[in-house]
Amino acid sequence: MGIERGPQFNIPEKESGHEEIEKIWEGVEQEARGFYKEYVAERAPKVGLEPERFEERIEKCLESEKRFLKWVWEEAKRMHSQTPSSKHEILFDIDDTIAEAKWENGSKEPVATYVRPATKVLLKNLRALYPESKIGFITIRQKDRVEKDLKDPKHLKEVEEFIDKDSIYTTESSSLDPSGLDLNDVKELIKSFSIVRNNENMDLVAASISSGSELQKLDILRDLQENNPDTEFMVVDNDNFPEYIKYGVSLTREFSNAVFPHL
Ligand SMILES: [Mg+2]
Repeated sequence: MGIERGPQFNIPEKESGHEEIEKIWEGVEQEARGFYKEYVAERAPKVGLEPERFEERIEKCLESEKRFLKWVWEEAKRMHSQTPSSKHEILFDIDDTIAEAKWENGSKEPVATYVRPATKVLLKNLRALYPESKIGFITIRQKDRVEKDLKDPKHLKEVEEFIDKDSIYTTESSSLDPSGLDLNDVKELIKSFSIVRNNENMDLVAASISSGSELQKLDILRDLQENNPDTEFMVVDNDNFPEYIKYGVSLTREFSNAVFPHL
């Protein structure tokens, strides 16, 4: 696949998860602060944020950033330690998870993509710790657009070196048509997805996995899991569904907000 996988950030095994997060965060905090200074100033007029509140908002953005880093890191460790003899794939949603499309007045296509600043350092560390594991995307963006964006410095180029190109999954490849499904249909569908953990309260699960794209992503994951029984899949997404599969991070969990964009 032509991806260099070397120990760039070798983290001693004996360190606890907490120390690891702090160490990774130290490496990115300054850059993240710089990013959010610009980001907050740029977006403030659109959301009506007054300049005297910028500092406070930047701190909040940094908290969300660190929470994202921590949740993904801990879940990746949990998956790898619980299933040491499996292969692994870590799949990130793009929009509102690691990135936000940037539009300008009158533009038909996004002019750029903001990539959340912790992404690159997180992927770099995951690569270093788990060189055999794959890292990819599961997204509603079309595949040819993702491939184009990965080559474009204005879009996703900064993470390109960490992404396995054969692990880019897009909802356009799902044959599931979610239109016209009522809550009961959704409940039955979710029950039929072997990758969704059995849950006593399937009504609640069905209600919280309500969008068509979530169902299509589950459909894709179900196929992946059935076709690759030796592989464990972990998903990171701003929507709820990762909470109900074996390994996943939903950025809206615990009522906290680690979703990107932060304002
Ligand atoms: Mg999303």
